[in-house]
Formats: sequence, C-alpha cells, structure tokens
Amino acid sequence: MEYIGVDLGGSHVCVLVINSEGIILRRITSSLENRDVSSVIDTIVNCCITVGIDTSKCQGLGIAVPGNVDPIKGTTRYLPNFGWLSEVPIKNLLTDKLGIMNIHMRNDGRCAAIAESVLGAGKNSQVFAMLTLGTGIGGALIINGRLIDGCSFDAGDFGHHVIATREPMACVCGKVGCFETHASAQGLVRHFNRLGGNATNAEDILKLYRAADSIAINAFDEFMEDLSTGLANLVTFYNPDVIAIGGGLSRAPEIYKGLQLAVDKKTLPASRGKVSILGASLGNDAGAIGAALLLQTTHR
Ligand SMILES: [Zn+2]
Repeated sequence: MEYIGVDLGGSHVCVLVINSEGIILRRITSSLENRDVSSVIDTIVNCCITVGIDTSKCQGLGIAVPGNVDPIKGTTRYLPNFGWLSEVPIKNLLTDKLGIMNIHMRNDGRCAAIAESVLGAGKNSQVFAMLTLGTGIGGALIINGRLIDGCSFDAGDFGHHVIATREPMACVCGKVGCFETHASAQGLVRHFNRLGGNATNAEDILKLYRAADSIAINAFDEFMEDLSTGLANLVTFYNPDVIAIGGGLSRAPEIYKGLQLAVDKKTLPASRGKVSILGASLGNDAGAIGAALLLQTTHR
C-alpha cells in the first residue's frame, strides 16, 4: 500500500509517498513561485505526477495546509499568507486533476503532531501535546492516538490562548496577550525590542545571548518565563506525558535548559515531574508524513 502526503508550505511544496509502516518510498520538493489557487494546484499536481502515483497501490492523498481548513468539506477556510481569505475547494480541485477520490486534509501543525505521535517524539505517549515554535506557535493534542479536533476543528491551537502576564502584545488573530505573541520567535524579538534592543529575527538575538549581551539575556529570560507559563497551562489542562516542541526555535538548545523545572513550579503537585518536554524528531518531513498518515489512522 502507498499513501501520498503533501506539505503545502509558504515557499515550497513537498510531496512524499510512504508505505504502511511510514517508511518514505519517494519524495520531491518544489519551490512555489506563485500562491494563487491555480498555480498552487498545478504545483501540487506536477509534484504528484513526478513522484509517481502507482494506481494499483495508492490509497489516497493527504494534505497539510498552513492555515484553517474544513476537513469535512475538503476546503481551506482562511490562508492569509496565501491571500486566500475565503473558502477554496482544494479537495475537489485536486480530485479533478489527479483522479484521486480519497483526499484528506488538516492544518500543518496538526499533521506534524500526528507524525510525531505515530513515528517520532510522541511514539509511546498516551496524552501527547505538540507545539510548533516558529514565527508563530502552532499546536495539537493527541490523546490515546486520536487527534482532538474540537467541534469546529480548532482544538489545540495553543498559540492563541491568552497568557498576558505583563504588557499584552497585539496578536495577528485580533486578540492581545496570546501565548504566540510572547513565546514564539517573533515574541522573542518583541521582548528584545521592548527592552531597548533592535532586532528583526530570533537568530540574531540568540547569537547576542550566547555572547552575553545583557538586553538579549533579559529578553530571553522573559521569553522563557512566558514559554514555561504557556506549557504549564497545557500541563494543567491536559496532564500530558509528552510535550514535543518543533519549529525553528526548537533547535536552540537553550530553550530546554531549566524549562522542565520552570513548568513544574507552575503546575499542581500531582503533575510535577510527569511530563517529558522533548524536541520533535522528524524535522521538516513531519507535515507531509502526517498528511499521508491521515489516510491510515483514525485522524480524520
Ligand atoms: Zn492570537
């Protein structure tokens, strides 16, 4: 059996084919020149054709989408980074061009979480939370192997729970004080600039932090305080045994230093010391693998 997984990124499309064990059989990555609907569909279709669809074995196609989707209707609801602000019937468009009827989709953070729970950092976890720490914060919750969708496919969007421990910052979602505005890569930049620094990306601040720059140290301390607050909230709500952290910031070893202890201090006694906070293990392939796994698990 073969399962096609598509990861639709902001600047590229990754298509891979996995077998029933989750082993990658074939893959291709293509840059995305334009983000209008027909260009995106054409790029996905061309990638699928190039990677090869074996109709005798293909069980269907899953897509990881960088935004809000309606998996029942097979539509994207809101992809601001693509300028897709209204519903796009992506499933029907792909079925028309590829002839594949069995198509499933989820937000990319959720797909990455599915992949990590089946094959990666959450493999042996019963209550698994995943956080993607990048420009923003994505998230998903998987309990006993099942993705928790919520009543409108919005559960586990941890980046937008309000922490607002001090000076709440405006979020892209329209609220203020969201976890994402304080504890994402962009959140670190905001802390740094608010304290008198001048940076546009988290990597530069981490370099300054490693060089013992005092503003960077203070900004990083505030960032870690906020990160541990958000994670402690997850622990209080769900009592997970594993929280995996993916995304660009997850590769900075500094974020794990003292994190478990800081989280423990903000949680109830019975939860303390029970959660393992780990880096995600599947890297950039997690979205596409999780998309393919939509076809062979209960996550749909
Ligand atoms: Zn928000």
